[in-house]
Amino acid sequence: MTPSELYFHISRSLENGGIEDSRFEAMCITEHITGMKLQRLLLERSEIDKSKLTEADKLIRKRILGEPLQYLLGEWEFYGLPFYVGEGVLIPRADTETLAELAVEEAKKNGYYRILDLCSGTGCIACAVEAHVPDADITAVEISDKAVSYLKRNIQLNKSKVKILKEDVLKSETAEKFKNADMILCNPPYLTKEDMQNLQLEVQSEPESALFGGDDGLFFYRNITNIWKNVLSAGGMLVYEIGMGQESDVAEILKENGFNNITYKKDLSGITRVVSGIKG
Ligand code: GLN
Repeated sequence: MTPSELYFHISRSLENGGIEDSRFEAMCITEHITGMKLQRLLLERSEIDKSKLTEADKLIRKRILGEPLQYLLGEWEFYGLPFYVGEGVLIPRADTETLAELAVEEAKKNGYYRILDLCSGTGCIACAVEAHVPDADITAVEISDKAVSYLKRNIQLNKSKVKILKEDVLKSETAEKFKNADMILCNPPYLTKEDMQNLQLEVQSEPESALFGGDDGLFFYRNITNIWKNVLSAGGMLVYEIGMGQESDVAEILKENGFNNITYKKDLSGITRVVSGIKG
């Protein structure tokens, strides 16, 4: 079997298995298995090792059963950087690039450099911002053992200077370790109880602790805003990723806690995805 035959085999199998974007996913899987880019492997005439077909069939089976593509590949791109991903950590999403982009712009514009990333997961936000903001001093706070192991590996992979604090962001003792932060970034769990009952099959493989934001989805916004507001300097910025339709509730929470200049930013699908406020 040639690499291109392998690609068409994977593509057909995924399509028959009901995978919507079967060609794109087949490209990702074939590139992963052969170590060649699609343009090249389509021209390659030499036979591949039989073990590669076995490996492909294993991945196809898992994918059809609902395992996320990103977990099967073990690596995914965010903001142009590579991140290791796998069971136990939230997959970096394109939606979250909206937050990273805003954070980079604001940090550069206002000279923010003492930055915290709460509920950091893979560390995608922290590493992306660190890569684009000269002299940024970024600490990623994360409590999950599994996530922290990915976070460590991702910091190494990206040769990043992000520091890690393995603590609970919901404890005031954690916040008390910091002062005079310029910017706090956070993509907390924000799905509601109802959202959790209607999760897409792939998302069901991701950790509930990274998704579920309490019955109304706002638990983390209420608590984090209250606990962390005093860590920011006056004029500092708190930036949240939010779920669809949460903007007015989160803006209200920010205002109740003394934030002003509330701004909103839409993601590429036109959904308001980021809400920020300035500490008064
Ligand atoms: N954006 C994720 C989803 O909708 C949720 C992640 C989160 O709660 N921060 O699947």
